[in-house]
Amino acid sequence: MTADRPIRVRFAPSPTGLLHVGGARTALFNWAYARRHGGAFVLRVEDTDVGRNSAESLSSILDSLRWLGLDWDEGPEKDGDFGPYFQSQRLASYAAAAAAGLEQGWLYRCFCAPERIAALKERQRADKQAAIGYDRRCRGLSREESERRAAAGEASVLRFAVPDGQEVVVRDHIRGEVRFRSAEVEDWVAVRSGGMPTYNFVCALDDAAMRISHVIRGEEHLANTPKQVLVCRALGLPEPEFAHVPLILGADGKKLSKRTGDTALGDYRAKGYPPEAMFNFLGLLGFAIDDKTDVFGPEQLVVAFDLGRINKAGAIFDVDKLHWLCNEYLRGTEPAELARRLRPWLERAGLVDDDTPAAWTERLVGAFRERLRLYGELPQQAAFLAGERVEPDAKAGKALLDGDAPRVLEAAAAALGAGEFPPPDFDAWAQALAEQLGLGMGKVMKPLRAALSGALGGPPVGDILALLGRERSLARLRAAAGAASA
Ligand code: GLU
Repeated sequence: MTADRPIRVRFAPSPTGLLHVGGARTALFNWAYARRHGGAFVLRVEDTDVGRNSAESLSSILDSLRWLGLDWDEGPEKDGDFGPYFQSQRLASYAAAAAAGLEQGWLYRCFCAPERIAALKERQRADKQAAIGYDRRCRGLSREESERRAAAGEASVLRFAVPDGQEVVVRDHIRGEVRFRSAEVEDWVAVRSGGMPTYNFVCALDDAAMRISHVIRGEEHLANTPKQVLVCRALGLPEPEFAHVPLILGADGKKLSKRTGDTALGDYRAKGYPPEAMFNFLGLLGFAIDDKTDVFGPEQLVVAFDLGRINKAGAIFDVDKLHWLCNEYLRGTEPAELARRLRPWLERAGLVDDDTPAAWTERLVGAFRERLRLYGELPQQAAFLAGERVEPDAKAGKALLDGDAPRVLEAAAAALGAGEFPPPDFDAWAQALAEQLGLGMGKVMKPLRAALSGALGGPPVGDILALLGRERSLARLRAAAGAASA
């Protein structure tokens, strides 16, 4: 059906909160599909809920999309032939469609009080009725009566008159054929009593007006699809194709929620997750470019992207995998580039300032990147480099109690004080020291590490020396030797 239609997809956030990881994944799939087919990726702001919208929410959503590297072709800050892209600026077109609906009879005024509807649904639930919904009481009102009561100022909503005996068959690219009988779809509210249209109504109108060819969105919207398709049919508008992507599940197998981890993309950004890793990870939530490649960037995703290969089953948000990917990206980033990215984190932690030589920062990130997962972890891991002294942790303290520790530390300080600093070949230097003392390498390295960094893990000792510099290295070795022999 779309063979002759240009590919146009959309992401349609409501600016009422932060961008959720599920939304980000939906945006990413839409973006990838548009780029795969040379189509357009439209960003439509669904801001009809005046009470809950905020400008901050919108700007944080746009920021999050940019951070992931998802650029849009039409939408906020971009012109396009099908704007405006804010639903709040499209109200006149919705009013026109509503008027046409009333005129043509596929919308009707319902004067039932909300209390009546609530009681009705309550009763239906208590009776365990299969279909819970409005009983169509006002559907039979004559046009005259409807007009008269409206003119008299009686409050009403506009309901969609779901045609009887129809079947809506949604050929979903992910879920296959999904059938809805019209008897299962209630006469839903298309326009509220204050005149504000509802999501299902405006979504269908805008998808048509913006010539959206494929609606790719979260599975939670599947139940809305027949309503939107029926609006298209009522107006004789083309129906888009659909792809409902599976839910994202937490490690407990339940829908991802705040309980099981961060859900806002901005939280990941704030903690220093590399954006490339997040992009890659989101691309793996329900999709794979093949059966063996875990690490891929935007170009590879775009080439391989195919709606038919998205999984039906829920996608597990595997934090360990995300961390593994983060480390893959950090290890693969050149120290100069990594230093640039990490600079704000290091500045905030007081580890670098304007006088810090670039070579020092590059050595720092080069030393730590093997074990690093998040930018945000570096300040804590590198904290021991700041200040003159370092407090050993429990394991390091134990290593410093070793009977040979004092002479190892003194000999090391003497050798480092006399020779080139840092030793150009640290391993050879340490080997020579061990031989001179008649000790194994372990006996030498443990107290050295403990004295210099206060811990037994961490980056190579040669890097630690270089980063501390001669003065502080010697001071730490001597202080630890003194404490150990006291
Ligand atoms: N504004 C809706 C949401 O944020 C859009 C749903 C859709 O893609 O149709 O859930």
